[in-house]
Amino acid sequence: MQRTLSIIKPDGVSRNIIGAVVQKLEKSGLNIIAMKMIHMTRKQAEGFYVVHKERPFFASLTEFMSSGPALVMVLEGENVITRYRDLMGATNYKDAAEGTIRREFATDIEKNVVHGSDSTESAAFEIGYFFNSFEIVKYRLSEK
Ligand code: ATP
Ligand code: MG
Repeated sequence: MQRTLSIIKPDGVSRNIIGAVVQKLEKSGLNIIAMKMIHMTRKQAEGFYVVHKERPFFASLTEFMSSGPALVMVLEGENVITRYRDLMGATNYKDAAEGTIRREFATDIEKNVVHGSDSTESAAFEIGYFFNSFEIVKYRLSEK
């Protein structure tokens, strides 16, 4: 079993497509085991994306990510990091495969609707950045 952090970014929340994105997660059999709305400060966004601090898009990205509410989730399942990244599609929506979240909903290379952890190490850091253990359920009722 593996866990990953998912974010519906401020563009997705402000465009009222939370439901559409969550429906894709559920239809793909990705279990949501934690979920909450947040609105990051600039400093919190900088801390979250610290791995990108030398990249030319860092300032713009952290401004965008702190520009409004976002929905953070923890997903759990076998091989969920790769399965969820496959469902998200390529960073640039123009390169994203048919049926992926970014192909369907993204409007811009930066405003690409969703985030997903890229490794078990980054998932552990990112989940811990937003959630404590009491906010994560151990199982879903549908699995009982
Ligand atoms: P994420 O980490 O958000 O799941 P990713 O792993 O597909 O996306 P990264 O390379 O980690 O892509 O980039 C992090 C985020 O920075 C991207 O999702 C996008 O919002 C933004 N970004 C990436 N490349 C660019 C770029 N060339 N110009 C502007 N923004 C970019
Ligand atoms: Mg990334």
